[in-house]
Amino acid sequence: MPNMRPDKNPMPHQDPQVRAGNFGEVALGYTPEQAVDEARRCLNCKHRPCVSGCPVRINIPDFIARMAQGDFEGAYQIIAQDSALPAVCGRVCPQENQCEAKCVRGVKGEAVAIGRLERFAADWHNTHAVDQPQSPAPNGHRVAVIGSGPAGLTCAGDLAKKGYDVTVFEALHLAGGVLVYGIPEFRLPKSIVQQEVDTLKELGVKIETNMVVGRSVTIDELKEEQGFEAVFIGTGAGLPKFMGIPGENLKGVYSANEFLTRINLMKAYQDGSDTPIQRARRVAVVGGGNVAMDAARCAKRLGAEVTVVYRRSEAELPARVEEVHHAKQEGIEFRMLTNPTAVLGDDKGWVRGLNCVEMELGEPDASGRRSPVEKPGSDFEIECDVVVMALGTSPNPLLSATTSGLETTRRGCLVADEEGATTRPGVFAGGDAVTGAATVILAMGAGRKAARAIDAYVRSKA
Ligand code: FAD
Ligand code: SF4
Repeated sequence: MPNMRPDKNPMPHQDPQVRAGNFGEVALGYTPEQAVDEARRCLNCKHRPCVSGCPVRINIPDFIARMAQGDFEGAYQIIAQDSALPAVCGRVCPQENQCEAKCVRGVKGEAVAIGRLERFAADWHNTHAVDQPQSPAPNGHRVAVIGSGPAGLTCAGDLAKKGYDVTVFEALHLAGGVLVYGIPEFRLPKSIVQQEVDTLKELGVKIETNMVVGRSVTIDELKEEQGFEAVFIGTGAGLPKFMGIPGENLKGVYSANEFLTRINLMKAYQDGSDTPIQRARRVAVVGGGNVAMDAARCAKRLGAEVTVVYRRSEAELPARVEEVHHAKQEGIEFRMLTNPTAVLGDDKGWVRGLNCVEMELGEPDASGRRSPVEKPGSDFEIECDVVVMALGTSPNPLLSATTSGLETTRRGCLVADEEGATTRPGVFAGGDAVTGAATVILAMGAGRKAARAIDAYVRSKA
């Protein structure tokens, strides 16, 4: 008999007062007993609506059925057939809009906690499994992967499993993309990403860091001089947007990407870090997405009073509800219907505040969301010494500018077909570089599709 309790097993968490002062993981994970109990809430529906909500179509009912029997390794093996990074996805996927949004248990109560179960199975495997990945027999073909985010890592892993000689070129000094430089430790411990990178290395994938393709080496050189038969571009969308308001060049204004990179990748919060960060008393974070929540929660952990400034109302906040809830629990203030008009500076060129106006919601715009309209005469000032702009990002134009035959859209995204083939033969692309800023699971899915297409392309040329 399934467990018909209407609500999910709650996720154990670090206490909000304590965690606001440390970078340790916030969500602590289910115990085995909680995992089995939660898995027993699944009805094993014949029509499997949850699977249709998963971008990579994980066989959710079957993995949950294994968990309900206490066979956690069996559950992991089912997930691993479709997902290359389950410990990552179990932590950061927006399940509430994907698989869990389709779960029938959500009609009269809460959906089955599919994400929490995925995380449990992956963590169980990573702690208990002893099997080493088998290095497949080499097939004699070479592929270059540019960028080591979820798209690049997945593509590299899938090709290596088919026997390809794969080299990943990464601009930063550490592999992992946004998983290491953007998403903070308290949501995704870096040791988990490192484990995935180590597994790839054991499969024979070579990772060359500090290699900015387009500067250190070009795609033409990789293909024509270094003998790579195909190239996959998974360079993400790391170019930050700014508002274009006065004062954005003052000292103390950061893009969210720079702010998070300094903290997550460069560990700027540790004494003696080579890449410091300004210790602020008050921080204003502009924006309402997940990136804004990450920046605000990092600033809080550095000891600042933090205000999130967002021009629409709470109902339109694009960040995950869970992240907003966690941010509020940690004492972060939200100023909704507020739009900055200028960053204010002192006479030494440092930020001293943010001038804002109040907004009200007007008619819906093209996205269906009601457009914010300025309230005349509503100017006011938020006192702060650091401003973080979290307004979205777009792909960096470096590769399209240095590679012949690579077309981009008006928004700067690479043009690629469903399988990842770009307009340049032998060059494939996927993830945020093609879609613009999206999600980990979509980037992973694109890397997987492109690996299949690359395999077909290389074989067709052999
Ligand atoms: P990326 O992860 O961006 O990786 C691209 C890599 O390419 C980087 O390592 C970069 O250094 C490298 N690179 C770029 N140019 C070059 C070059 N010329 N030569 C060599 N290397 C290069 N998604 C979720 O699903 N859930 C979340 O909770 C979530 N939170 C997020 C929080 C933040 C702060 C950010 C910024 C994003 C978040 N996302 C989240 C989005 C998600 O991380 C991205 O959609 C995903 O990482 C895209 O993967 P990717 O492989 O396409 O690119
Ligand atoms: Fe289980 Fe929900 Fe999927 Fe039905 S929809 S199989 S209850 S997870």
